[in-house]
Amino acid sequence: MKTLIKNGTIVTSSDTFMGDLLIENEKISGIASSITQEVDDIIDASGKLVIPGGIDVHTHFQLPVKGMLSADGFESGSRSAVYGGVTTFIDFAHQVKGEPPMKALDDRIEEAHGETYIDFGLHYGITDFSDDLLKMVPQFISRGVPSFKLYMVYEGLMSNDAVIYAMLQAVREFGGLVIVHAENSHLVDFLTDKLRDAGKLDIPWLPRSRPDFVEIEAIRRILYLTEVTKSRLYTVHVSTGEGAALIASAKGRGVLAFGETCPQYLALTEEIYNRPESYLFTCNPPLRTRTDSEALWKGLSMGALQVISTDHCSFTREQKETGKADFTKVPNGLPGIETLLPLSFSEGVMKGRLSPGQWVDCISTNPAKMFGLYPLKGTLSPGADADVVVFDPEKKQVVQPEILHSNVDYSPYIGMEIQGWPEITISRGRVLLKDGKFQGKKDWGKFIPRKYEDPASPSWSL
Ligand SMILES: [Zn+2]
Repeated sequence: MKTLIKNGTIVTSSDTFMGDLLIENEKISGIASSITQEVDDIIDASGKLVIPGGIDVHTHFQLPVKGMLSADGFESGSRSAVYGGVTTFIDFAHQVKGEPPMKALDDRIEEAHGETYIDFGLHYGITDFSDDLLKMVPQFISRGVPSFKLYMVYEGLMSNDAVIYAMLQAVREFGGLVIVHAENSHLVDFLTDKLRDAGKLDIPWLPRSRPDFVEIEAIRRILYLTEVTKSRLYTVHVSTGEGAALIASAKGRGVLAFGETCPQYLALTEEIYNRPESYLFTCNPPLRTRTDSEALWKGLSMGALQVISTDHCSFTREQKETGKADFTKVPNGLPGIETLLPLSFSEGVMKGRLSPGQWVDCISTNPAKMFGLYPLKGTLSPGADADVVVFDPEKKQVVQPEILHSNVDYSPYIGMEIQGWPEITISRGRVLLKDGKFQGKKDWGKFIPRKYEDPASPSWSL
């Protein structure tokens, strides 16, 4: 089966040019200003962008939170991804206390099996550190799971500084990457208790329980530990401008420090918590100021941060309502996988904050490089998986829950006019979305074992 995508504006990390892209079976087999070949199918991409499919390296499908399960499972989450031009996601296998560490990984792969329209990988979430677990780091890496998530907050999940130090050392020794949720847990508890004593637990007080310095202190601390262990670190959902600046300055000193931010921190600000229905916008870290979001955009364009991912962790209105009057009871998290590409294009490229190539870097190429998927994914080079999106840069839509396809009955971006939406989504040569028609198959997506390439001596650059 050969498919030719003709006359599109091909945008990759390094080039933007008018051209054609040839797909043979599951792979990209040619890219040039003009390709003439006998093929089975021709897609006319005139006036459209042709980009490598989006890679969202931070999702939480069917995650248990506060006695609930996040609303999107692998099926609805990956369906919504297809509509949004995302062709690969990386979710988490979280260690279960008292069970053999590898079981969590097997169980999670089994949960996703037959339930996803697109390919996926998994990070391993450490919640019950032990010497045995430490010894298993090479086994996880050899199974294609080279990234280890540590939480500096959350009772039952969090790692103390000694665990962080030990994992940074292990990664330094065996390869891989520590990925971290950076917030100072003691400060969160102290500030929350004070707000509770003062009867201030309604939503507008949420940002006061986790002010910017809660994140900044934690980033500063873990960067320092990364520096002394000469290890590698990726900080998830950086929400503050100063957090991004700290990562940039550590990088300047030669520390292998990388980071992501998310659409919610780029497009929304904390004033939202004074709105009616503010409980629908609760996430950790909380939304910040306009100054922070502008600094995060700058951080992406200057290379302080490498990735825009979603932290997609969706709950329905009904689920969110349980914490309507008390931010400590609300299930935290926002949906976002379907709007990742459109929103970052509209707010980033259309508003001159990112070049088209930088945008592709942030939503596809850099995530692939950082997490061991490159050059299998994240590029339009011959030999890569034919994960391709034909993106209409002119199409405008106002966000309403009705135009989206996840299991959630609201969107944090409701009412925003977004310019730029995917038109065709192709995963390993198979068209999953075309002319608004979904053509996905639930058992198409497969678990992709990821390789880890040492960023200290990479065959790619970031
Ligand atoms: Zn997360």
